[in-house]
Amino acid sequence: MEGALTARDKVGVQDFVLLDAYTSESAFVDNLRKRFSKNLIYTYIGTLLVSVNPYQELGIYTMSQMELYQGVNFFERPPHVYAIADNAYRMMCSELNNHFILISGESGAGKTEASKKILQYFAVTCPMTESLQITRDRLLLSNPVLEAFGNAKTLRNDNSSRFGKYMDIQFDFKGIPVGGHIISYLIEKSRVVHQNQGERNFHIFYQLLEGGEEELLAYLGLERDPQLYKYLSQAQCAKESSINDKNNWKTVSNAFSVIDFTDKDLENLFGIIASVLHLGNIHFQEDDQGCATIPDTHEIKWIAKLLGTHPSVLLDALTHRKIKAKTDEVRTDLSVYARDAMAKAVYGRTFTWLVNKINSSLVNKDFTRQTVIGLLDIYGFEVFDENSFEQFCINYCNEKLQQLLIETTLKAEQAEYEAEGIEWEPIQYFNNKIICDLVEERHEGIISILDEECIRPGPATDLTFLEKLEEKVGKHAHFQTRKLVGPKDRKKIGWMEFRLLHYAGEVTYCTKGFLEKNIDLLYRHLKEVLCRSKNSILRECFLMAELENRRRPPTVGTQFKNSLSSLLGILISKAPSYIRCIKPNDGKEPSKFDDFLIRHQIKYLGLMEHLRVRRAGFAYRQKYEHFLQRTKIFIRFPRTLFATEDAFEFSKHQLVARIQATYRGCSGRRAYLKKRQAAIKLEAHWR
Ligand code: ATP
Ligand code: MG
Repeated sequence: MEGALTARDKVGVQDFVLLDAYTSESAFVDNLRKRFSKNLIYTYIGTLLVSVNPYQELGIYTMSQMELYQGVNFFERPPHVYAIADNAYRMMCSELNNHFILISGESGAGKTEASKKILQYFAVTCPMTESLQITRDRLLLSNPVLEAFGNAKTLRNDNSSRFGKYMDIQFDFKGIPVGGHIISYLIEKSRVVHQNQGERNFHIFYQLLEGGEEELLAYLGLERDPQLYKYLSQAQCAKESSINDKNNWKTVSNAFSVIDFTDKDLENLFGIIASVLHLGNIHFQEDDQGCATIPDTHEIKWIAKLLGTHPSVLLDALTHRKIKAKTDEVRTDLSVYARDAMAKAVYGRTFTWLVNKINSSLVNKDFTRQTVIGLLDIYGFEVFDENSFEQFCINYCNEKLQQLLIETTLKAEQAEYEAEGIEWEPIQYFNNKIICDLVEERHEGIISILDEECIRPGPATDLTFLEKLEEKVGKHAHFQTRKLVGPKDRKKIGWMEFRLLHYAGEVTYCTKGFLEKNIDLLYRHLKEVLCRSKNSILRECFLMAELENRRRPPTVGTQFKNSLSSLLGILISKAPSYIRCIKPNDGKEPSKFDDFLIRHQIKYLGLMEHLRVRRAGFAYRQKYEHFLQRTKIFIRFPRTLFATEDAFEFSKHQLVARIQATYRGCSGRRAYLKKRQAAIKLEAHWR
């Protein structure tokens, strides 16, 4: 007779470390599947949280759920994103140090949702004073505003983050959230002027048209129908049933009023958004000399009104170009390129302005002694049918974050055991530093090669860039082009493409547009028009000083590389928590568990390696000094010893001896359980 199924058989284990067959990927997937089928989307690997996107509301983010996790030991409750938030918060309060929570996973895996849940958890559970409620509200409401301007529907995700976001939540010594600061990374400006089939432009355009009041639209010279605007209609996806633009407009409008935006700010801001739509509708015609003309100046007049410039100046700037060749002034045609460059530049800088504006409303100068919890929600690893410069940057960013995880967990943990002389069998993992180097190395890396092509005199094109890559990094194990692979793979890589073997899988990038996007050129005379604009936001975004500075600004690739390097600098100084998000299927469907897709993510997220390290390691770690201070009541060391310098040295040996004696003879799961019980007991005592 078949034995009754135990609870464990039905719902799986809530910490992968407790699996019997912990080295088998199949056991890992089985456990995840069992839990997912019971709507248990969270599972731990030690203190790392694995989250599978349920694609449905599960009712697990209620007030009573929040109460359940508040101030409770990490392992005492079932795995939850609240437990990660609460743990980071309690550690920050007790140890007075800074933390960060890094949320990673591919596009659509649930990173942004997780980061919102964490923010809500802090907003509800942290102590609060009346005067600081406004800060809390602003922290929360910064989300819908930034999502409206920085998120869009892609083929992978209806609300895909098209910018990277790092948010510090600042707490005072009582643990009250007193302020915040946001850093944004590389917004995907190209989306403003072009979207792939089935994708949309940034949400805000549709929200404004759908939800904006009649008077506002009349003031901006806009019609309700998005199909009338070229920048919104090319991808045949202006209306999307899963997105409620009208309601979202209300949320965003309300958020604006809480985050200190004046009527004038909003007038200027929407003047810019409307101008972008008008810009897209400017139609150029060639005259007899082959020069561009604008037969219908309707749009020009609207843009000039909204941006506070003169129509003839704008028209001239869009159809002519001044090039100083010797002493002659040569006027040449401008094409659609100038118009699109202007739309992208205006949108991109307005987004930065928006982030700065939110930041100034979150500043709290009254509190000097602060600790922070940083939340990192950055675009996930992306593979489309056609991948361009944007995907290259996004995937490079994911490589860097993988490096951080390796440095702070896999590598650091193993190094610690070695340093402490604890018996340890090294665990093999793929270190993706080699790919990071391929992209970012000075002079030798892909970004440097691209920069060189961008500034080199003579005709440089996307094709010459590809040839340079072949010449300089052609032998690299993680780089391929059509020329460099065998006949089997040749069909898969086009003439203008190169392929990178990322830690998360192969991605083929089309070099078309790489040079242009990296230089990100806005003609000087167009910049001049924007600098002289009467729209105060634009004047803040385009400073005259920029025109006076003759030095070439750093390229987009280099700027991104530098900002990532400073982000890593920020993170490495803080204590980490990790959430790894998994996408269960490509169809955004609830309850569908696609084995193949999930196995792939488990592999590239390095979850098996992480599990092996966690399983072999200790469940609880603490600095000796700290540990000794907190446990001296239990550990009966001679009193006098504490007064001496040697106390810590002594305690170290005592502790190691004790721990080793306790676990001698225990192996695998039993040892882990014992270690975990000990940790829980200690924690419970300390609270
Ligand atoms: P990207 O890298 O494209 O920004 P992402 O990882 O941030 O992707 P999200 O936007 O967080 O992905 O999630 C995509 C969608 O999945 C959400 O809009 C929501 O519909 C659903 N989803 C994600 N997490 C949850 C959750 N915990 N509960 C219910 N639905 C969820
Ligand atoms: Mg997101």
